Amino acid sequence: MPRSAHVTVTVDLSRVRANALAVKRASGVRVIAVVKADAYGLGAAAVAAAVRDVADAFYVFDLAEAVAANLAALGKEAIALLDEPHDAATYRRHGVRPVVWTVARAAALADARPLLSVDTGQQRFACPAGDVDAVLAAGRVTEAFTHASTAAQVRRLLDAAGGRGLALHAAGTALLHDPAARLDAVRPGLALYRGAARVTARLADARDTTGPAGYSGFSPATGRHGVVLAGYAHGLRPGPCAVNGHRRRVLEVGMQSAFVEVAPSDKVGDQVVLLGDTVTEADV
Ligand SMILES: *Cc1c(COP(=O)(O)O)cnc(C)c1O
Repeated sequence: MPRSAHVTVTVDLSRVRANALAVKRASGVRVIAVVKADAYGLGAAAVAAAVRDVADAFYVFDLAEAVAANLAALGKEAIALLDEPHDAATYRRHGVRPVVWTVARAAALADARPLLSVDTGQQRFACPAGDVDAVLAAGRVTEAFTHASTAAQVRRLLDAAGGRGLALHAAGTALLHDPAARLDAVRPGLALYRGAARVTARLADARDTTGPAGYSGFSPATGRHGVVLAGYAHGLRPGPCAVNGHRRRVLEVGMQSAFVEVAPSDKVGDQVVLLGDTVTEADV
């Protein structure tokens, strides 16, 4: 995302830590904190440091993310889904365990304590059930997981890889509520970040709407609209926002600016909350 002088993002790391503690308490199993994609944009290095004493391990997309966030300095293992080159020494040097799903990759990375990814329906980055035993043997694997969004996928993991003494995990945020999905660890991403980010911009313009406006010809219910200097380039989409404590709408989004509904009393310079307060992740 391009940086913008017109958008302010604040991250409440104590909220992330409290979220991690809540997951730990509710699940009672190992917590693998998912800090991929720079901790969903909140900053992986800062997030990982904030939860280092709560998380048992970290999960990232690739080795480069683990290195960029300096996870090795935190004294907890990191798990990386992908990377080149496939050499065990590189992973070990960075304190990172690779994920494997083919015999060739498992054999090449056996010395880096790989985890097996089992295909329970995702059909990517994962091993078909029929290949599980061959990959386990090739990588001397002791831990296996699946990327599950349903209870049926958790059962498929147990069918494919259970009964072998492996540590198993499946649950991201969507399955945290389901005791049957907890197994030996949980891998929360979004559940760590809920309520932690606040995104605001200021009204760069505020005026009475004199007819259909913008590209789409909108006419706000309040009869007035404002402009913020945030747009698609910053991940903004049409939807709810809040202006001076009142719930309003982002009416139309352009690449670097957007129209918002405002009240007659709202003026240039007033703050527009795009995420945070009453505007939740679920809303946007
Ligand atoms: C992203 C990811 C998660 C976390 O998903 P959330 O829904 O954000 O909790 C867990 N496991 C894997 C393998 C992932 O890629």
